[in-house]
Amino acid sequence: MLCIGVIALQGDVSEHVLAMQRALQGRGEVLEVRRPGQMAQCDGLVLPGGESTTICRQLESSGMAEELQRAAWSGVPILATCAGLVLVSKRIEGDGKVRPLGLMDIKIGRNAFGSQRESFEADLEVQGLEQPYRAVFIRAPAIVEVGEGVQVLARVGEAVVAARQKSILALAFHPELTSDMRFHQIFLKMLEA
Ligand code: GLN
Repeated sequence: MLCIGVIALQGDVSEHVLAMQRALQGRGEVLEVRRPGQMAQCDGLVLPGGESTTICRQLESSGMAEELQRAAWSGVPILATCAGLVLVSKRIEGDGKVRPLGLMDIKIGRNAFGSQRESFEADLEVQGLEQPYRAVFIRAPAIVEVGEGVQVLARVGEAVVAARQKSILALAFHPELTSDMRFHQIFLKMLEA
């Protein structure tokens, strides 16, 4: 049985738990990770969307930031969405309010799509998927620079909105809010590989 931990400090935790349970189809269980020590039993981790400044603060004060870094460096697959994408990056434009975990060689622009487009949906052409994927964006960040080892999976205009580096899958949108489970399936394949 697989165990997937959803980092449950702030953000849309319950949506991620439900979506992952649906994707697992009985092949594993989902654990809400709130305390240091719980990550050790997880085969994969989800870093949800929410408010990256808040999640950053709570990860640091609980000691879970270092634990998450150690898990990532040891190869535990991580699905990072929206605020989670901000957190796994190496650099963030402007800002200074969020200290990223530096797990992925990317630079982030927070709220990159501007206030006039706070929320929107877009059909994405995704590398490796045959049919377009309808993605939900909410005050979304974008990846504005990618390092060499980063595989770009999808863009909106110039902005990169889905990417992978080794065992980290990072999305600017919310795969937990739609019924299309293809990104969860990509993540579970990474985990079973
Ligand atoms: N704009 C938020 C941030 O930078 C992310 C929004 C989201 O996760 N839906 O924290």
